[in-house]
Amino acid sequence: MSKNNKPFEIILFGPPASGKGTQAKLLADTFTIPHISTGHLLREIKADSDNHLAKQIADLIDNGRLVSDELVNQMVSERIKKDDCQVGYILDGFPRTEEQVKFLDGISNIDYVFLIEIKDEVIIERISGRRTCKNGHSWHIKYSPTKVDGICDVCSEALYVRDDDTPEKIKDRLEIYHKNNDPILNYYQEQNKLIKVNGDQHIEKVFQDTIKYLVDDLRSKINL
Ligand SMILES: [Zn+2]
Repeated sequence: MSKNNKPFEIILFGPPASGKGTQAKLLADTFTIPHISTGHLLREIKADSDNHLAKQIADLIDNGRLVSDELVNQMVSERIKKDDCQVGYILDGFPRTEEQVKFLDGISNIDYVFLIEIKDEVIIERISGRRTCKNGHSWHIKYSPTKVDGICDVCSEALYVRDDDTPEKIKDRLEIYHKNNDPILNYYQEQNKLIKVNGDQHIEKVFQDTIKYLVDDLRSKINL
């Protein structure tokens, strides 16, 4: 398989509530490279009857089955061969297993692996502070509080915590996140490709830090 050298082959990692999707979109817009989220890609292919993987993926998803490494690998490999990936791409949600890491090594030259780093306690605070009303208006007890505690500013309905947002559920999600991602992050760390960005700051600042790293790195490559 041919591996062309592209300047922006990027992977983005981040725990739940790290704003990973937002950062991926900002980066994609800045460098005019596609943001390839495996979640979106699965739904896109499933809906595209011309795609030869559509039926296979629809069968799995509709039956609540897991999509195999092999299938995800094939899907990503076909996606990054498209014309819009000539300068690079941002992978989000991939690689997720060591099999996927190995496969990606064979088809790409990953330049940067960014991790939006946030302490578990901060994530728990971010998620467990979320409040919503029955009409779906969203608030946060610290970051976007309502005027009256427990009452929605928009519709005056009572606010509640969603089942998934309780500290116990968040801890479960974080445990799974670490179990799956830490070995992969260690691997990229050993390859000197891992760049940790402080995610416990404003979205705009997280983005600026990421861009600064990329610009400085590109400058140093040009000056070599
Ligand atoms: Zn409301």
